[in-house]
Amino acid sequence: MILLDRERCIVCQRCTRFADEIAGDPFIALVERGAQQQIGIAEDAPFLSYFAGNVIQICPVGALTSEDYRFRSRPFDLVSSPAVAEHDACGSAIRVDHRRGKVMRRLAGNDPAVNEEWITDKDRFAFTYAQLDDRLTYPQVRDDDGSLRPASWPEAFAVAARGLQAAGGVGVLTGGRLTAEDAYAYSKFARVALSTNDIDFRARPHSAEEAAFLAAHVVSTGPGGGGVTYDDLESASTVVLAGLEPEDEAGAIFLRLRKAVRAGGTEVVAVAPYTSRGLGKLRARLVPTVPGDEPAALAGLAGELDATAVLLVGERLAAVPGALTAAADLAARSGARLAWVPRRAGDRGAVEAGCLPGLLPGGRPVADASARVDVAAAWGVDALPEVAGRDADAIVAALAAGELGGLVVAGVDPIDTADPAATRAAIAAAGFVVALELRESEVTRVADVVLPVAPVTDKAGTFVNWEGRPRPFEAALRNPSSLPELRILAGIAEELGRPLGFRTVEQARAEMQQLGPWDGGRSALDDSSGPRTTTGAGGAPAATSGDGFVLATWKQSVDNGRMQDGDKYLKATARQPVALLGRRAYDELRPTVTLTGDRGSVTLPAALADDLVDGVVWVPANSFGNGVLADLASPGSRVRVEGAQV
Ligand code: SF4
Repeated sequence: MILLDRERCIVCQRCTRFADEIAGDPFIALVERGAQQQIGIAEDAPFLSYFAGNVIQICPVGALTSEDYRFRSRPFDLVSSPAVAEHDACGSAIRVDHRRGKVMRRLAGNDPAVNEEWITDKDRFAFTYAQLDDRLTYPQVRDDDGSLRPASWPEAFAVAARGLQAAGGVGVLTGGRLTAEDAYAYSKFARVALSTNDIDFRARPHSAEEAAFLAAHVVSTGPGGGGVTYDDLESASTVVLAGLEPEDEAGAIFLRLRKAVRAGGTEVVAVAPYTSRGLGKLRARLVPTVPGDEPAALAGLAGELDATAVLLVGERLAAVPGALTAAADLAARSGARLAWVPRRAGDRGAVEAGCLPGLLPGGRPVADASARVDVAAAWGVDALPEVAGRDADAIVAALAAGELGGLVVAGVDPIDTADPAATRAAIAAAGFVVALELRESEVTRVADVVLPVAPVTDKAGTFVNWEGRPRPFEAALRNPSSLPELRILAGIAEELGRPLGFRTVEQARAEMQQLGPWDGGRSALDDSSGPRTTTGAGGAPAATSGDGFVLATWKQSVDNGRMQDGDKYLKATARQPVALLGRRAYDELRPTVTLTGDRGSVTLPAALADDLVDGVVWVPANSFGNGVLADLASPGSRVRVEGAQV
């Protein structure tokens, strides 16, 4: 991924200081002595870091270069566009350098309030996914013979509109990768064009408790409005992490926490099953927790926190019944400030835009008549649907049961969902599927209308990061083969005879701004008028009592995610998938173990995590096969672990 030309090096040691002081990964070091002294890879430390690419940018003489970019272009031939990274919810500023319509490299932008001047390797190198051969470049509609054929935009809009009208109830699954403007368009499209609240951005395990938590504690907060900021992490006495491994899931938060810890004023406390590599570098105090026991672990921290503390809860807590409620209780009792950290760049913007069955844009509750009137007046329609919407699991169940006939789906990979097999079956069972996608996928292969969407480089937009901070960006490239999602939705809505009232990002932004946040009361966490949900298919883990090990899992920063496709050098830096075991189980079962859950079996090398809680096994969520949810079991459920024959 990175090459060193020693003859250029002036031994300034910027790179080694970065490795030591910022990333905490000793992947590059000063080696040898005297006249032989030079930069190299330390013998006792592997080149292992999620932040290594930053050394390319800070090397003053070009001794460290990107294998993929070096000698491909002269800097003065490049056009540079400021942008925002799309790989996590950190909102990191980046610079996109492009030439003749093709992105050549990405660099860290300098934003002292957010990512300072660092980005993850994923933010830097994972951009080729939008340049691959499977990129969709024209609309397609399914012919009578069952095959997909190319269509013009107007024809595709018309076919999509006709099919949705005839479908008899349509659900909308938007995924978490949308810009806030596109999310707003989906939210309005569902309510105005489809007359439904059946919309959910959560293409992952989720719960009704989470939806209520987002409405009560997250939506419409932000810097200056009660939201926690990066700077707050630095000044906090204690930062509690629950359901969040920041090195893997939110790199800029990890780096800011490491800075705070090294400065000496902040202690990190982690409610987690073991001290991960990232938590080790934060010198985190572990509150050893079996997945599912997070509510009790959080309640146990009540006496330790005060108003100078910050509590960061990851989206994974949605899969643990009671955990988000316990986090909110802990914050209320201790005075600690609370923030929700999702994984994807568009998640927070989707909450703000109302891509949830119980929320309209700006945090307006669907259940509140005055909120509905407010939005209906702004949108120029008589009324909005009153019936509580279905969440993503309930949409999947309703499609399978034939209660819904149509589906509008955007950027959802079934393997990320709570029950991948159920999601696949539901998409297959749907009478009419409209897929808005960047690249060919298992969803587009079965869809009735496929509409190519513009990647983030080709459109303006805004990501709202975990702080609630809007991170607007303009288009870097112009590519006529795809359109922003809001333009596509506007086209279908017009064919349906219920126009959205905007066609451009600027128009949507202006409308969002005019609507603004809800100034009525916040939904209470125990609000019983929440979204309709299913039982069983949702994110709640199977019973954790019984035989076997409790399954702990999360996605590593570099893994099999589709947005990392196309960069073999980045992929090669992924950590090898292993099954982590505590001491006793490791000694008994190594070197290779087979895990068996209710969705299948997987065999992985065993590795030791010294402080892993007894009776727990940890595996990476998307680093082998089709991932844990498809190939093994739900997080928090029981799996059998046996020594495997090698
Ligand atoms: S930053 Fe560049 S010039 Fe400085 S020590 Fe590292 S490789 Fe050498």
